[in-house]
Parts: sequence; C-alpha cells; structure tokens
Amino acid sequence: MKKVLIASKNEGKIKEFRKMLAPYGTEVLSLNDLPDAPNVEETGATFQENARLKAETIAERYQCLAIADDSGLAIDALGGRPGIYSARYAGEEKDDRKNIEKVLKELEDVPMNERSARFVCVLAVSRPGSETVFAEGECRGLITTAPRGEGGFGYDPIFYIPEMNKTFAELTSDEKNAISHRARALKKLEKLLPELLG
Ligand code: IMP
Repeated sequence: MKKVLIASKNEGKIKEFRKMLAPYGTEVLSLNDLPDAPNVEETGATFQENARLKAETIAERYQCLAIADDSGLAIDALGGRPGIYSARYAGEEKDDRKNIEKVLKELEDVPMNERSARFVCVLAVSRPGSETVFAEGECRGLITTAPRGEGGFGYDPIFYIPEMNKTFAELTSDEKNAISHRARALKKLEKLLPELLG
C-alpha cells in the first residue's frame, strides 16, 4: 500500500486528510506517528512558501511522499489578518479559544454585512527528487459575533456559511469536507493523485 506522510501535527487537519484520502487506499501517516519528527519553522511570507517548506523538509527527511497544508483565515475587515499567522494569532501556545476571542474583540464594532472572510488552504506535495506540486482552495463565509457548534477545530465555531445557516463547527465532518478550503484544494490535486501515489 502506498504511504503518504501528512507533514503536520495538527490533529484537526490530519483527521480531515485521513477521511479525504481514504478512497485512494493509501496508508496515511502524520508527524504525530513519528516520535523524532522535526518542528519545521514556518518562516515563509506566504501560505505557499510555508507549505513548500513543510512538504520538502519532511519528504527529504523520510524519503517519501509528503503532503503539507498551510492554511488560515483571512478577514476582510482586518485587512486579511490573521492570514499566515492564524495558528498563533493570540500567542505562541496556538490556543484556538484565545485566537477566537482575539478575532471577536477586534470585530466588536463591525456590522454583520462587513464581516466577510475566507479560509485559504495551500497544499504542497513533495517527493524526493521531484518538483513540488501545489494546489489552492478557498471557502467564503462570515465571522459570527459568538462561537457556535462543537465540531471541527481552529476558527470553525465562528466561520458561518450563510447558504447552510451553520458555522463550520455545526457541520458534520462530511458536510465540512464537501465545501472546505482544504477539500477544494485536494480536489484540484485529485487528477494528479493517482500519478503522485504511483
Ligand atoms: P498552519 O499550521 O500554520 O497552517 O495553521 C493553520 C491555522 O489556521 C490553524 O491552526 C487554524 O487556526 C486555522 N485553520 C486552518 N484551517 C482551518 C479549518 O479548517 N478550520 C478552522 N481553522 C482553520
């Protein structure tokens, strides 16, 4: 069975990848399965640079196919913030609850019709000795005034999809995986996956 290493320690992301890659019959491992996994510093200035850094470092280190995801929430009223800093917006401890509180505080006086935002995901697929391949996906929504729902991870409880009248955290994992930025990016890779997975 072909092995894919998800170059991430984020269990929320890893769970989504496992589910989305299940139809390909691949063995999906993540950095949480490797006790000696390095912490790749995200020193890039864009989602793409960070995704490349993570995928290439891990593919080279473990000599296998690695998929990295760099993603984040871009809020229009905040000039695109938190963007590439989404994970650590409220501090290095990467606390989802504190990140949400910070965003809601910053948007306190912003009316609903100006609370538009988009989730962005850039996937990088790297194999030793091959050019890295990229795919990008996005999903548009609005930022709520208070968290709603228990599912998902990160900013899901405040990311509202008007057409579904639900936040990402109120969707089932299948519903989220049908429309999310990550799913859309993976969909773009789909045509290349059989070849990439050999
Ligand atoms: P990264 O590890 O630098 O790519 O961090 C991505 C961060 O963006 C996560 O820690 C979350 O805060 C946020 N994020 C990315 N994708 C999602 C999602 O699907 N739902 C909620 N938050 C997300």
